[in-house]
Amino acid sequence: MNAYDAGPVAALRRIAFLLERAREDTYKVKAFRGAAATILPLSPDELERHVVEGTLTDLPGIGASSAKVVAAAVGGEVPERLAKAERDLAGPLTDGGAGDDLRSRLRGDLHSHSDWSDGGSPIEEMAFTAIELGHDYLVLTDHSPRLRVAHGLSAERLTRQLDVVDAVNTHLAGSGFTLLKGIEVDILDDGALDQTDEMLDRLDVRVASVHSKLAMDAREMTRRMVRAVRNPHTNVLGHCTGRLVTGGRGVRPQSQFDARAVFEACAKNDVAVEINARPERRDPPTRLLELARDAGCVFSIDSDAHAPGQLDFLVLGCARAEAAGVEPDRIVNTWPQERLLSWARK
Ligand SMILES: [Zn+2]
Ligand SMILES: [Zn+2]
Repeated sequence: MNAYDAGPVAALRRIAFLLERAREDTYKVKAFRGAAATILPLSPDELERHVVEGTLTDLPGIGASSAKVVAAAVGGEVPERLAKAERDLAGPLTDGGAGDDLRSRLRGDLHSHSDWSDGGSPIEEMAFTAIELGHDYLVLTDHSPRLRVAHGLSAERLTRQLDVVDAVNTHLAGSGFTLLKGIEVDILDDGALDQTDEMLDRLDVRVASVHSKLAMDAREMTRRMVRAVRNPHTNVLGHCTGRLVTGGRGVRPQSQFDARAVFEACAKNDVAVEINARPERRDPPTRLLELARDAGCVFSIDSDAHAPGQLDFLVLGCARAEAAGVEPDRIVNTWPQERLLSWARK
């Protein structure tokens, strides 16, 4: 057995991270994250006593496999489950180092979700993982009220969330990392944004996305998207076609719109076209990505993470941006935070 001194919480978190990154079933991941949350408040003595007495599985949320991980880590040995995850799941996400150069230039991520909407983890877990990935900033962009299936945030809940973001940043003061205030705001059928101007004003970065009526007639969809892009609050046009190419939710064709008109509006209004890195989205498709490049748009490469491990998907978007020949300076998340924030304020 190899020595291990990072402790049981780190072991459980790392296993969960690697499973999420490898797109394993969330129920498996939840077991490890739940176990980490259970033991986090316990003192080393209490934990040791549970290990010695064999009572770890009496604790809420700790099953047999989590208990084994905890016992090994407490005993200073690399847990078998962790060694297996490192061996099987920790390898590069792209072939031949594609996207690595650009990935090393990204300073943060403009699109992520917590368990306040449809993400799987608390805000602070997303922030800690972003720090571990070397980000300078992460924009928290939970959904807006109209997206009820995703528990979109009302103005009141968003107000409370902003206080939590402030508290997280206070806690992380001196780390060099900032959790930025954001939203993934729905583009309503008429192109209006699904949050009050007052709330949108309070945010650092706003991603606007279409989530409903994706099969709308192309002329109407173009009008809808162009109106949203012209809204002075909009900073990023999220996953512009809405397509799904693979994954548990099945496939969905891209929505139809005049892409040239939409991207020209993005370029004119200084709205970034998102390169959504989620493997099931790969949005925009290559032809549209090239069209946006030729229209002079800026881009943001976003993980759209709904779980901490998915924050590592950025390299997938980087590989696509590199293949399309997008210059790094046109990608807003290669910019330092101050430049990003002043751009987002318009
Ligand atoms: Zn979305
Ligand atoms: Zn999203």
